[in-house]
Amino acid sequence: MATDVHDTVVHTKVAIIGAGISGISAAEKLASYGFTDFKILEATDRIGGRIWTKDIGNFAFNSPKTLRLSSFHFHLKVGYFSFCHLNSFYYNKCYHKFVENWMNFSDSEKRLRHMIFTQHLKQETVVSGCNDLGDVSLSEFGCYEELPGVHYTIPPGFQSVLDILLSSVPEENIWLKHSVKCIHWADNEQSAQQHSSDNVQQCKNDNGNKILIECENGKKVYVDHVITTMSLGVLKASSGRLFDPALPEEKKEAIEKLGFGIVDRINLYFDEPIVDPDVFRIELLWDDKKYEEEERNPDKPDMATSWYRKIYSFEVIDANLLSAWVCGKEAEYMESLSEEQVAKDCQKILSGFLKKDIPLPSKTIATRWGKSKNTKGSYCYIKVGSTISDVEALGEPITNNDGKPVIQFAGEATHPSFYSTTHGALLTGHREAKRILDHYNIENSI
Ligand SMILES: Cc1cc2nc3c(=O)[nH]c(=O)nc-3n(C[C@H](O)[C@H](O)[C@H](O)COP(=O)(O)OP(=O)(O)OC[C@H]3O[C@@H](n4cnc5c(N)ncnc54)[C@H](O)[C@@H]3O)c2cc1C
Repeated sequence: MATDVHDTVVHTKVAIIGAGISGISAAEKLASYGFTDFKILEATDRIGGRIWTKDIGNFAFNSPKTLRLSSFHFHLKVGYFSFCHLNSFYYNKCYHKFVENWMNFSDSEKRLRHMIFTQHLKQETVVSGCNDLGDVSLSEFGCYEELPGVHYTIPPGFQSVLDILLSSVPEENIWLKHSVKCIHWADNEQSAQQHSSDNVQQCKNDNGNKILIECENGKKVYVDHVITTMSLGVLKASSGRLFDPALPEEKKEAIEKLGFGIVDRINLYFDEPIVDPDVFRIELLWDDKKYEEEERNPDKPDMATSWYRKIYSFEVIDANLLSAWVCGKEAEYMESLSEEQVAKDCQKILSGFLKKDIPLPSKTIATRWGKSKNTKGSYCYIKVGSTISDVEALGEPITNNDGKPVIQFAGEATHPSFYSTTHGALLTGHREAKRILDHYNIENSI
C-alpha cells in the first residue's frame, strides 16, 4: 500500500475515493476486467472504513486463542420493522393491541410487558441506525430487503472478506493517507460556465477536460472519472467544501433529507469469567417509566445517569468478554466519555442486573463512529420526510453533455434495497465500476 507517493501531480483515468468495502469492490471489479488505470485515495492509514477488525489478544477465557472482533458481528440484519412518526397510528395500534391482550394481567405483569416492548424498540433503533424509531419513515417500509438465511459471525473477522477482494487489486493502486480536500469537477465548457468558479476555470485551463482532485497532503490528481464512496455523514458535513462547483440541487437535497445515525459497540474484557458458560446473552429490561418518574426534568434527562439505559443487552462472546450496542444521542454522549468512565458505568449496570459484584473490566474498547472525522456516523436510514428516491438520487452519476460519467456515487447509502449494509456497499462499488467498463465498452477478456 502506498502512503508516500512522491509525485505531486499525478494523472490516472479513475479515482476511487475511499478504501471501504464499496471502494475496494469497485477496484476489484475494474481490475478483474484488466482495467488498472485507477487509484484509490483513502484518508486514513488503513483499509476497511467502517469495517474494522481488530486483534484483541488472548482475552477469551474458554477459548485461549487470539480473538478478532469487527466493528460489528452480524453479517445480516435482524427482522426489520420500523415505526414512523407520521404514522404513529401504526405504532399505537401495535402497542395497544399488546395492551389489550394484557387486560387479564396484573399491574406488575403489564409493567414487565411494557419493559419487554421498549427493550425491543431499543434494539430496533440500533438495527435502523437512528436515535428514535419515530425518526424512521414507515412510508418506505419494505424497501429494505432482508436476505434469507441465518446470522453468521465470520470467525476470522470481516477483514477476511475484504482480503478476498483485495487479492486482485494491485497494492500500488491504493494510496493511504490521501485525504481528499476538493474535487474540481466541471469538465466541459457548459458546466464550467454554469458554475462560474475560478478554480474550475483554472482546472480546465490547466488540463483540458480533466477533473482535478486536490488532496490535503498537497497531491494533485487529474482524472476522467471519480467514484466517491465517502459516507453520507461526510457528505452531510462537508459536501459544500468537497465539490467545486457545488453538487446539483437534487443531490444536495438527498444528502440533507436522508438520515445518518450513530451506532457504537462497547466491548468489555474481564480477567475472570463473569457469567456461567451456558449464558449467551444478558438481556436488560429497564423500567424506564420508573426512572422517568424520578427524573427531575424527564424531557431533558441527565445523560450522565441515563445514557446506558439505551443498552438493551450484553452479548456474551465468551464468559469474560461482553459486547453491547448503543445508538443515537446516548451513543453520542458515550463517545464524549473516557473508556474508564464507560467501564465504570457498565460495571454498575451489570452488577445491578446480575445482582452480584462485577469487577471493573480490565480492558474496554468503545467505538466512536460519530466522532470519526472520515465517517461521521455509522449508517444511513430513511428518515421521516425522505423516500427511497433520495437514495436513488444519491446514487445517480453526474454526467457531462456526452453522457460520460464524471462524478459517480457509491457506498452503502446509495443502494436502494440493501442500504446501511456491507453487502449493499459492495454491490454499489460493482455498479459504479460497471458504469465505467460500459462507458469504454470493456468486456471481460481475462
Ligand atoms: C457499528 C456498526 C455496525 C454495523 N453492523 C452491520 C451489520 O451487522 N451488517 C452489515 O451488513 N453492515 C453493518 N454495518 C454497516 C457497514 O459496516 C457499512 O455499511 C459498510 O462498511 C460501508 O462501506 P462503504 O464502503 O460504503 O463506506 P466506508 O466503509 O465508510 O468507506 C468510505 C471510506 O472513505 C474514506 N474517506 C472519507 N472521507 C474521505 C476523504 N475526504 N478523502 C479520502 N477518503 C475519505 C473513509 O476513511 C472510508 O475508509 C455496521 C456499521 C457500523 C459502524
